[in-house]
Amino acid sequence: MQRTKVKDLLQGAAVDQEVLLKGWVRTKRGNKFVNFIAVNDGSTINNLQVVADAEKFSEETLKDVTTGAAIAVTGILVASQGKGQAFEIQASSIEVLGKADPETYPLQKKAHSLEFLREIAHLRLRTNTFGAVFRIRNTMAFAVHKFFNEKGFVYMHTPIITASDAEGAGEMFQVTTLDIANPPRTENGHINFEEDFFGRATNLTVSGQMEGEVAAMAFSDIYTFGPTFRAENSNTTRHLAEFWMIEPEMAFYDLKMNADLAEEFIKYVIRYALENNREDIEFLEQRLAEEDKNKPQNERQEMTLTEKLEFVVNNDFERVTYTEAIDILMNSNHYKKKKFQYEVKWGVDLQSEHERYLVEKHFKKPVIVTDYPKDIKSFYMRLNDDGKTVAAMDILAPGIGEIVGGSQREERMDILVERMKAVGINPDDMWWFLDTRRFGGCPHAGFGLGFERMVQFVTGMGNIRDVIPFPRTPQNAEF
Ligand code: ATP
Ligand code: MN
Repeated sequence: MQRTKVKDLLQGAAVDQEVLLKGWVRTKRGNKFVNFIAVNDGSTINNLQVVADAEKFSEETLKDVTTGAAIAVTGILVASQGKGQAFEIQASSIEVLGKADPETYPLQKKAHSLEFLREIAHLRLRTNTFGAVFRIRNTMAFAVHKFFNEKGFVYMHTPIITASDAEGAGEMFQVTTLDIANPPRTENGHINFEEDFFGRATNLTVSGQMEGEVAAMAFSDIYTFGPTFRAENSNTTRHLAEFWMIEPEMAFYDLKMNADLAEEFIKYVIRYALENNREDIEFLEQRLAEEDKNKPQNERQEMTLTEKLEFVVNNDFERVTYTEAIDILMNSNHYKKKKFQYEVKWGVDLQSEHERYLVEKHFKKPVIVTDYPKDIKSFYMRLNDDGKTVAAMDILAPGIGEIVGGSQREERMDILVERMKAVGINPDDMWWFLDTRRFGGCPHAGFGLGFERMVQFVTGMGNIRDVIPFPRTPQNAEF
């Protein structure tokens, strides 16, 4: 017989027929006459209840049916008498496929802290919370591809190992096959990377943007969606050393079109999750509400998770220039009462406390900040006519901070080369990148969106380590 998934069974596939169920035991309870076994197979947050009559199953048979065990059940799917589920299985046979010793299986019935579950990341996927988070993550990844595919964007696979060290997006992880205890040296004592695997020094990519720009000059509209690596030693709830980034790059786009696309994209992905993961989002919403009960009144959420997501989908993002943002901050009571830790003045980068003030206190919605001072942004961002600012944009989201960084790119060869030199990059090293300006260059723009930050937003999870299956952070690469 073919196995049917819990999700389909709960929708009433094959009522009053014999079915085969396979999954993992969540709980077992019972009395002298009957046992109730809740089974989950990951297809939905909901368990399917298996009813095993004591007269059909001896204690001996059921003793290995414990929390965590993998079982196969055959029986008739019937409308349930009990409350809480529409259907249940009247079991005729139960086979234990894999035991889970109750003495040592770490996931027993009681609630576990997220911190503890991080230490057993290989088992935490079997909990309700992580089941919900990763089903939502899956839906959102699909929505990313769906969105760009519907718009005719070409999905480009940019390299993971790169030799370009000029992106300046962050600290890099070196990739080498040299003997690090005893590397080959040049005459003047430097490590001789000519003897390394690629004949040169290489790293894990911090961004696919430059290769993306190259591709946009051929296909017009492209996007990347892949792993990105940053060896930044920032132990925050928003930074990973390995994260997934979505980077669209569009020929013939200016900054406004770029911002419009980013806003439309974010709303699309959130809406898709709302439509396709209702039950999972509702579960996480309940979880957050429980968490809130332990917080002081003023730290509690004003909106439920669903309300927050619907609000974002249904309202325009706020748009301000960096200069306007600085004005807002300097005119705030928060500033006047000296409550910001970091300096606020034109020319300094916005710190996360400033971003949070703008988004959570002032506008209370996502904000697109544009036109930053050129000295705090990358060399490839297009210089504005004022000569002081560049056509950059950051999108800031409530509770998350920066979720998107992007810009219109500098397409004018002379200005680009000048900016490279100003930040100490040798234009000769970037010859292939500059060829995109040398041959058929055109105005273009793009952005990078951190996928985990968007998953954090949709799931309401406070720590980025809880929205990627196996997080890589400083001092942590277990599993
Ligand atoms: P931040 O200021 O938050 O460190 P950034 O300015 O370094 O971000 P960009 O280089 O513009 O970020 O990268 C684009 C996007 O990638 C960011 O908007 C963010 O969503 C995401 N991102 C950047 N660094 C990380 C990281 N270490 N872990 C997870 N996501 C990240
Ligand atoms: Mn950073």
